Amino acid sequence: MFQKARLTLTAWYVLIIMIVSIFFSTAFYNIATQEVQRVIQRIEHEHNDPYDLYPNRPPIDIQTLRESEQHVLFILILINLTILVFAGGAAYFLAGETLRPIQRMVNEQNRFITDASHELRTPLTAAKTSIEVGLRDKHLSTKDAKDLLLGTLEDLSSIQLLAEDLLTLAQFQTNTKQLFEPVAISEVIQKATSKVNPMAKQKYISIDFAPNSYQVNGNKENLLELFIILLDNAIKYSPKKSTITVTVKKPDHHILATIEDQGIGIDEKDLPHIFDRFYRSDKSRVKTTPGYGLGLSIAKKIVETHNGSISVQTTKDVGTKFSIKLPITA
Ligand code: ADP
Repeated sequence: MFQKARLTLTAWYVLIIMIVSIFFSTAFYNIATQEVQRVIQRIEHEHNDPYDLYPNRPPIDIQTLRESEQHVLFILILINLTILVFAGGAAYFLAGETLRPIQRMVNEQNRFITDASHELRTPLTAAKTSIEVGLRDKHLSTKDAKDLLLGTLEDLSSIQLLAEDLLTLAQFQTNTKQLFEPVAISEVIQKATSKVNPMAKQKYISIDFAPNSYQVNGNKENLLELFIILLDNAIKYSPKKSTITVTVKKPDHHILATIEDQGIGIDEKDLPHIFDRFYRSDKSRVKTTPGYGLGLSIAKKIVETHNGSISVQTTKDVGTKFSIKLPITA
């Protein structure tokens, strides 16, 4: 598909270059022939002039002038053929460069669709299989039926979670322009904390945060989503009765927010991949830890749309600290 588009684009580029080249060559040839014509007329006039002051002037070879005219035409045709060959090569290269980002985007979208379908298939198959098994069982008791429904409900919740994450990620893939405004970062963190608090309470985890008045230039909803993802992970991957510490500082021309937990840490082999879509460490793949490996890729996209950066420091079985740099309000 891209090869065909590249060839079409090449043809268009060559056509444009050749139109310009032929236009200038024709103009040049016309000027040159007019000039030769003018010189010939002047010479003929001088030679036929009975009052010529220099009757013994040497004869000028008009034939040579006409030949030079032909010579100019020949050179121009040669130049245009050379341009055609070089323009063909250059246009093919440029067409490839023009299409490269589009090709990358299409490949990315295709991979996204493949990954998403793959992830959706697992809970859907599980739900379908348990319903089919239940329907085939002639002696299914009310209790068994309720268990089956409960299991199916869990699978459906998991599909719902995945669909929501995919939707959020898709929004960032399209790079739609978000409304940016001065946002009080502490307010956002407090809101995120209250959202994840029920989950933290279940594990007796406390979240420490000392609010301040720093502001960043950003989108409130997206920043809220960012802190919910990071706090949610910190709770998910921390043991019971531990502490999560959130800080916000203003080192120079940016805001530095950190979320530090006392959790399981991240393996060195997982570290380069944690921001990749659908990546989960082997430990997180156990069914008791919900998630699809989309949280950190969404977090990264949010930080990038805010012209910020996200980094991680981790020690196995000691804890993990995510640091986010965001630009302050101008
Ligand atoms: P999910 O949590 O759904 O698996 P994420 O994209 O949020 O997906 O995280 C990717 C992986 O990074 C997780 O599977 C986990 O292995 C690791 N990870 C993220 N946050 C933490 C954390 N605070 N502590 C330990 N591991 C983490």
